[in-house]
Amino acid sequence: MQRIAVFPGSFDPFTIGHEMIVRRALDLFDKIIIGIGINPEKQSFFPLEVRKRWIERIFENEPKIQVETYQMLTVDFCRKVGAKYILRGLRTSADFEYERLVGQINRQLGNHDIETVYLLTLPEHTFISSTMVREIIRFKGDVSKFVPKIIADDIKNNYLN
Ligand code: ADP
Repeated sequence: MQRIAVFPGSFDPFTIGHEMIVRRALDLFDKIIIGIGINPEKQSFFPLEVRKRWIERIFENEPKIQVETYQMLTVDFCRKVGAKYILRGLRTSADFEYERLVGQINRQLGNHDIETVYLLTLPEHTFISSTMVREIIRFKGDVSKFVPKIIADDIKNNYLN
């Protein structure tokens, strides 16, 4: 049976922290579906299609990775795509408390057959967040050290003018 994991998030935008979690998890799973959750209540900074295209381009040579969008509970999305695992990254103790809550709820909602797998962030990526990247862009700063090159180039050309 294929080991399929969903890596859920808003990825607004995808950072090198996210990228490293996915690359490190590649050995653990046969397939990783990066699931961009749509929250109609929340206005995103980057359009959904742009976020999706960026991630697709980053992993275009990686056949084990697929990028999808979804608007439902993460466990329902997992069932839809046949995933038994949810992949998450852990940066800080604050992340841990939040992830503990979501992980335990998802375990109940998933009838105990969906496991969440957590990878600790590399120490040098602990301070990187999509929120911080958005703040830097708002004030026209340079985010090239925090996001993959494809995204940094596109932001420089299309969002900093
Ligand atoms: P959400 O909106 O669900 O918090 P994010 O897009 O912010 O989604 O993050 C998705 C996942 O990536 C989460 O598990 C988060 O902890 C993890 N993550 C975010 N930033 C980093 C980072 N710098 N290093 C490793 N993991 C990260």
